Amino acid sequence: MDLHALTIDQAKKLLASREISSVDLVSAMLDRIDAHDAKVGAFITVDREGALAAASEADARLAKGEDAPLLGIPVALKDLLCTTGVRTTCGSKILEDFVPTYDATSVALLKAAGAVILGKTNMDEFGMGSSTENSGFHVTRNPWNLDHVPGGSSGGSAAAVAAQMCTASLGTDTGGSIRQPASHCGIVGLKPTYGRVSRFGLVSYASSLDQIGPITRTVRDAAIMMNVIAGHDPKDSTSAAVDAPDFTSALDAFDSQGLSGMKAGIPKEYLGMEGLSPEVEKAFTDARKVLEDLGVEIVEVSLPHTAYAVAAYYVLAPSEASSNLARYDGVKYGARQKGADGLIDMYKKTRSKGFGPEVQRRIIMGTYALSAGYYDEYYGRASRVRTLIMDDFSKAFEGCDIIISPVAPTPAFKIGENVDDPLTMYLSDIFTLSANMAGIPGLSVPCGVSKNGLPMGLQILGKRFDEMSVIRAGYGFEQSAPSFPGLPEL
Ligand code: GLN
Repeated sequence: MDLHALTIDQAKKLLASREISSVDLVSAMLDRIDAHDAKVGAFITVDREGALAAASEADARLAKGEDAPLLGIPVALKDLLCTTGVRTTCGSKILEDFVPTYDATSVALLKAAGAVILGKTNMDEFGMGSSTENSGFHVTRNPWNLDHVPGGSSGGSAAAVAAQMCTASLGTDTGGSIRQPASHCGIVGLKPTYGRVSRFGLVSYASSLDQIGPITRTVRDAAIMMNVIAGHDPKDSTSAAVDAPDFTSALDAFDSQGLSGMKAGIPKEYLGMEGLSPEVEKAFTDARKVLEDLGVEIVEVSLPHTAYAVAAYYVLAPSEASSNLARYDGVKYGARQKGADGLIDMYKKTRSKGFGPEVQRRIIMGTYALSAGYYDEYYGRASRVRTLIMDDFSKAFEGCDIIISPVAPTPAFKIGENVDDPLTMYLSDIFTLSANMAGIPGLSVPCGVSKNGLPMGLQILGKRFDEMSVIRAGYGFEQSAPSFPGLPEL
């Protein structure tokens, strides 16, 4: 049995019947990391001892007949979730040696549910990027084809699940960073509604857009993870005081009632869009047919402000980032460079050396957009566009339950292909970042593989706090879509 390939659901059953132990499962993952991570580069830090100790503890609890939702399951975390005693770098040299003294709420919830934390995964520095090439440490490669990017910014978390180095992982999504790498790596990624999962202990990139979510092999596993991490947290003032449902009951809803009666909107602005690859368009059309065969009614909807989404996002996100990243000054935390003549020079050298080029670019853009005299012209206008985008979704959802689209306009590009062209990189986020501006949930589920063997994903968006419809439709699609090929040998 390939223990490393199991889903959470499968592993739980085998653990409960004591056919396998958590130590077996965790060791299989560590072996897999030893064998392949030098090529893939999914991890920044592997906590071998911590993971084996937690696995033994889980085995002791399992032996006593205890049951917890993730008891003994090996999970990897994007390296911007604070972990007590395990360094948390955010993919940045400026936090290379930062060891938090507390766990993020999502991490504490995983641990309380019995999960074994394997380590911390690579990412674009502070979440800024779409390819994981902006990490201050190393690039991560796509397990389906090592010459291609895994997507980003949660590229390490996605590659670790796809390469079967963990059973599931957590990522974060500010403009697509869970959904797009999941799509590029042929797995499932769910960005919950803003406020659904606590951001406490998530190192901020753009606080009004950031959201934590699961990256998994199946939609069922995503629902299992959501049951653990969702819910109100008094430590996060933007956490919503709404009760989390049992997300796995959305799967039962499909099993008992299918998808009949459900309406899926397709935004007319999305199709025939410049830059949309014919292969992605074909995979999307095929996916739409699968949903139609399940009884889903397809309707045309309009998101008229789509043309302004990328521009507005790339003003708003860098503006928030420029403010959030002001704290890395060589004084409060992180690395410090010696200044030649006093404080200002120390700040300059610390920030010039500690941040990579993309982060510096965003800080400059954001600081400019927020500066006196330009605030109204840039930040104010982008905020107004954001409101219009929210209104677009509210109107569109009057006529449908979910909205479907591709996740990314092309399959994963080659490593290095876009590094000198940030604008092309920004434009590739067109289908994902509006969901963050509107605060709505979105799922990426595999829907095909390109001629050269790279996966593509279907995006399913829902109304605020209606992850249930998204999960139900995603699960229905997953159960009914033509079988998805397995990962080629690494
Ligand atoms: N690619 C987008 C950006 O660079 C989104 C990243 C994310 O979701 N963290 O901002």
